[in-house]
Amino acid sequence: MKYYIKTFGCQQNVADSERISASFEARGMQPATDYSDANYVVINTCMVRHNPEERVYGLIQNLAKIKAKKYEQSEVFKIIVTGCMVGIAYRDKSGQFLAKIRERMPEVDEFMPIEEVGFDLEPVRIEKKHAWVPIANGCNNFCTYCVVPFTRGREISRPYNDIVEECKKLKNEGFTEITLLGQNVNSYGADIILGESNVQVLRDIDKTYFEKQSTDITEFELNGEKIQPVYVNHLGKQRIPTLFPYLLEEVTKLGFSFVHFMSSNPWDVSDELIEVMARYPSITRTMHLPVQSGDTNVLKRMNRWYTKQEYIDLTKKIKSKIPDMIFTTDIIVGFCGETDEEFENTVDLAKQVGFDRAYIAMYSPRPMTAATKTLKDDIPHAIKKKRWTLLENLINAKYQ
Ligand code: SF4
Repeated sequence: MKYYIKTFGCQQNVADSERISASFEARGMQPATDYSDANYVVINTCMVRHNPEERVYGLIQNLAKIKAKKYEQSEVFKIIVTGCMVGIAYRDKSGQFLAKIRERMPEVDEFMPIEEVGFDLEPVRIEKKHAWVPIANGCNNFCTYCVVPFTRGREISRPYNDIVEECKKLKNEGFTEITLLGQNVNSYGADIILGESNVQVLRDIDKTYFEKQSTDITEFELNGEKIQPVYVNHLGKQRIPTLFPYLLEEVTKLGFSFVHFMSSNPWDVSDELIEVMARYPSITRTMHLPVQSGDTNVLKRMNRWYTKQEYIDLTKKIKSKIPDMIFTTDIIVGFCGETDEEFENTVDLAKQVGFDRAYIAMYSPRPMTAATKTLKDDIPHAIKKKRWTLLENLINAKYQ
């Protein structure tokens, strides 16, 4: 029996697919070279933009033809869909999304939540020198345009020692480079320290944010040692405790040539994290710091808790400690109500920061998100495209 995995979307999905491979190989299966060579096809889906979602529907139609042929020859051919699409389907309490995908893809044999693939098996890694190492899954931030909190759920950190042990093994196997992965790596460990249900979410800002401080947690036991959790300070207050600077330092000390991490939310970059990065030259000198917009009002509509100036100041602070640091970013153009002036602020911020590269997307409404429910996708496609092209030429010219 053979399996084939098609992965859409981000590096987190790539890492998840490596663990899905492991679960198939543990059952004695071999990787297939393409769909028609396989008996089990897994589609690991992405819902962050409209396009990859549509591509899944198109792919399933093609797979249906292969399935029909295989069945004529009495061969096993199962289609399994997993990833973000299934995540949202099972979290949508109304059941409408699950009903919709079942109706659009009747040929699918199983909709498998990614949580069913645990961390017990060693991933089948595609690259041989560089390894993706997931440290957390999910997100608590609820940016209004983003579907991730609905596809992957609340942020859950992997146990600290499991991550360190995985990294030690990678080092012993000859891997020279690792990337620690999470939707918001900076907040790694908040749920370990506070308990999952006690972590403040930015969606709750009016209700509980800043009211329930956790300053009473001054010590935390990590591997039998008492440590002080690093508090992320934001808007002059303590937001959440995190263990990320400790984790980053510990895995860096293992001696990899390069240690990367992504993604880093601007409002959760602690001074301690900057200090750890500055101390170890093997920690990445290309920091991915998604800005999404350079306009403070758009950022508010996006539920992103920093201003244009705070973002610029943060990049300056990092550069003052680590002069060779360069920044990459994510930007959304044409978000609900984005005026020419607001867009110009993004252009200005991009010029001031001097990004090495930007992943620029034209806004598209995503199911269940606050922007889809409460804001209007009112920027015409032609204007989105014009803004996209302008920024692409400004930031990414050397990669074109
Ligand atoms: S921080 Fe915002 S954009 Fe990033 S995954 Fe979480 S909700 Fe989405």
